Amino acid sequence: MKKDFSPALLDFGPVQIYLARHFGFCYGVENAIDIAFRTIDENPGKRVYLLSEMIHNPQVNADLQQRGVQFLQDTHGKQIVSFETLTKDDVVIIPAFGTTLEIEATLNAIGIPTAKYNTTCPFVEKVWNRSEQIATKNYSVVVHGKPTHEETRATFSHAANNTPTVVVNDMVETIELGKYITGEKPPAQFYTEFAGRFSKGFDVAKDLNRIGVVNQTTMLASDTQTISDYLKQVMMDKYSLTEATVEERFADTRDTLCYATNDNQTAVYGLLKTTADMAIVVGGYNSSNTSHLVELCEEKLPTYFINSEEKIISATEIVHYNFHTKKEIVSAHFIPNKEPVKILLTSGASCPDAMVEGVITKIVSLFNVQSNMQSIVEQFS
Ligand code: SF4
Repeated sequence: MKKDFSPALLDFGPVQIYLARHFGFCYGVENAIDIAFRTIDENPGKRVYLLSEMIHNPQVNADLQQRGVQFLQDTHGKQIVSFETLTKDDVVIIPAFGTTLEIEATLNAIGIPTAKYNTTCPFVEKVWNRSEQIATKNYSVVVHGKPTHEETRATFSHAANNTPTVVVNDMVETIELGKYITGEKPPAQFYTEFAGRFSKGFDVAKDLNRIGVVNQTTMLASDTQTISDYLKQVMMDKYSLTEATVEERFADTRDTLCYATNDNQTAVYGLLKTTADMAIVVGGYNSSNTSHLVELCEEKLPTYFINSEEKIISATEIVHYNFHTKKEIVSAHFIPNKEPVKILLTSGASCPDAMVEGVITKIVSLFNVQSNMQSIVEQFS
């Protein structure tokens, strides 16, 4: 059955909020949060660590820290608490993004089991399995992802354990990688250009002869598709292949996005069919899937990326995040002087629904709204 991706209209009179059909929390995040809180309850008196942020949501991570959980690394893999200070009696929770085989081995060597409190999302594991399948057919893996993101580092590690692997961040890098396939660039240059992005022993002269593309599950589906199509065409041109024979050199992986990322992104395309004055996207500032939703919205209309309703200071002031410059900025007079004001609203996979509700309540409080918020929200429950 075809899914419905048209937005829901919350009509408050002077302000109309169009809520994306799919937004917010996904299975993987809910599962990870459940396991994390259960782990705390099951281990009174023990030191409980999280390898890094559970998910990219500041409130969830702050809640966990309040319950005594400590982070071992920051989101870029920088050590906060040394592994050397851990003992076998400590508990370490693996976050939803998964982790590298090297870190798993380090923890196991200390005597800390990594399977019991592992919240790795099954959709991330699906990507690892896909990489393994490709590897058994002698394809190298190209990972489309943000090189320092926890999930990409974990996927890189798992793929590299089975086959030569390289990470590309975007189309610009993909075009450069393509030049090593065609021979336009000297092989020696690869090792500096892609430093830190390729697996040990990667031989650019032969390891790009047969490839398959997998992605960090939260990348933009359209970007991964474009990257995959581009590399496929490079292979077809170089080896004179047709659609019927291209699999000799290019593995058919289709995209490895998770359903939640897919649905949230498709729902934003549905949302953007509505003519509106602005979009508000709610989520953690370091959340990859949320920033992709922002990217889609800001192509069409003024977009404000906020991580809590508190960022809407007043009807004339909003504090929001510019993910290009990685800085919070203040915008004045963000609400146009007209009626009704139409606002598109969505949130990323790591954003609790209560936060979206808080943002709706805050927006409504800025207008002279007669209707009862509860009765409007109840239409959708
Ligand atoms: S966004 Fe997808 S892959 Fe990531 S935790 Fe959620 S369900 Fe899993």
